[in-house]
Amino acid sequence: MFSVTCTVLSQGNRSPAMSLPSTADVVVVGSGIIGAAAAAAAAGRGGRVVLLDKEDGPAREASGRAQGSLRVQGRHDAEVPLAREALELWARAAEEGDFELVTGGNLYLRTSDEELPVLRRLVEQAHRAGLHSVELLDAERTRELVPSATGPLLGAMWSPMDAHCQPRKGTEHYVRRAGRAGAHLAYGVKVTRLLQTRGRITGVDSTAGPVHADAVVVAAGVWAPYLAKTVGLKVPIMPVVMSELETEPMKPLFSQTIRAFGFGARQRPCGRVVVSAGLNAKVSHGVSLSDLHGLRYWLPRAISFRENLRLTIDTRRILEQLRRRSSLSMALVPHRSPEPQIDRPLVDGSLVRLATVIPELRDAKAARYWAGLVDMTPDGLPIIDGAAGPQGLTVIAGLSGHGFTLGPVLGEIAADLSLDGKTSRPIDAFRLYRYSAGQIDRPEMMV
Ligand SMILES: Cc1cc2nc3c(=O)[nH]c(=O)nc-3n(C[C@H](O)[C@H](O)[C@H](O)COP(=O)(O)OP(=O)(O)OC[C@H]3O[C@@H](n4cnc5c(N)ncnc54)[C@H](O)[C@@H]3O)c2cc1C
Repeated sequence: MFSVTCTVLSQGNRSPAMSLPSTADVVVVGSGIIGAAAAAAAAGRGGRVVLLDKEDGPAREASGRAQGSLRVQGRHDAEVPLAREALELWARAAEEGDFELVTGGNLYLRTSDEELPVLRRLVEQAHRAGLHSVELLDAERTRELVPSATGPLLGAMWSPMDAHCQPRKGTEHYVRRAGRAGAHLAYGVKVTRLLQTRGRITGVDSTAGPVHADAVVVAAGVWAPYLAKTVGLKVPIMPVVMSELETEPMKPLFSQTIRAFGFGARQRPCGRVVVSAGLNAKVSHGVSLSDLHGLRYWLPRAISFRENLRLTIDTRRILEQLRRRSSLSMALVPHRSPEPQIDRPLVDGSLVRLATVIPELRDAKAARYWAGLVDMTPDGLPIIDGAAGPQGLTVIAGLSGHGFTLGPVLGEIAADLSLDGKTSRPIDAFRLYRYSAGQIDRPEMMV
């Protein structure tokens, strides 16, 4: 057993500053997988770390709501080396704690002829990135891998190195590791402002008082643009809602992560099947005044993915933004995020489609539904930058729906940037500068 220094403050109270250490080497904002892994890596290297989250525990936002697929392929070439290292780190982490890691591979099931060119492109992309074990399978070989897939299918794209895990447990694992390494963890503490003096970061102010530090890591998910703006930094992120469901426990049916057009799934070791809307899923977004930031990026993307994007007008948020005379005021960041609206018909439909391929799922009952916010960037690539703002500030955000996988390696990168001011890992493609320089491509899929 181990003891962890942890403070949990009641929501919204400005509690005595003495509850938090007044100084640290590194302050990490956000206790999702990125913040947790950053705190664990920096504390593991001897840094005095304070990890702050506005929620009452870790993994309350995207990291606790992810599907839990850990995949190397199906990514931009620049992400592949990071994803490869991340998978190795996840495997090593599983030797010291249980977060339901299953290295079962990833199957993109093909149910129509039109999907074949897409899967061929994914295989070519994987081979170009050096992932030579990724291949196309015919229906017979697909059924050898998943004998329960007795329904109609035409084949699959198979990637044997991929894995899946229970994301909340995975994040908690890194939080515990951070605590064991001496990080101070504090929940119910909202960071209200980044502090800077003469171009150098000097810490953060929070609802529990300031913490002074030469390095700050912003791992704040969809809320990163608000915090970045307190030092004049523009971070283009559009939050979109994605939904999931989990069934009652079923007998063991498959160990792979299944991803297809119209459904995605993984089966937990306890037998429950987690179902998502799969490749290029439909997502929703509440339009507000903050979308005016970076409208030139979003508009073309929204038009080309109009089939996959459900837009509503978020009148309440717009009124609040008008009242605050700001669309990115820190006052708009809730102390505890409201539950995003779940699209039950969408994921119910995905379960039905999955059950046509794996008929034993026809009687599966949904036991739980949830939704989470994805921090989408205009080009679908993460922002990983230690040089965009005041010296000492690292921003890691905009993981665009596939960042859980990368968590452990992004934690190492955050520690490198915070403690050494540089990293040997390849992150040039993820600089924030690419947006203002207009150096971005349109992603192939919505998520
Ligand atoms: C439904 C869904 C399914 C997904 N499936 C997958 C998947 O299968 N595989 C995959 O790789 N990725 C997946 N993702 C994406 C993945 O979940 C995210 O990329 C990843 O979890 C992002 O981690 P994070 O630490 O950056 O953000 P988060 O987990 O959102 O953490 C940010 C934290 O910052 C805190 N915070 C924000 N502002 C402040 C502040 N001012 N003060 C204090 N605290 C603050 C928040 O409370 C939050 O805890 C999915 C996402 C969703 C929503």
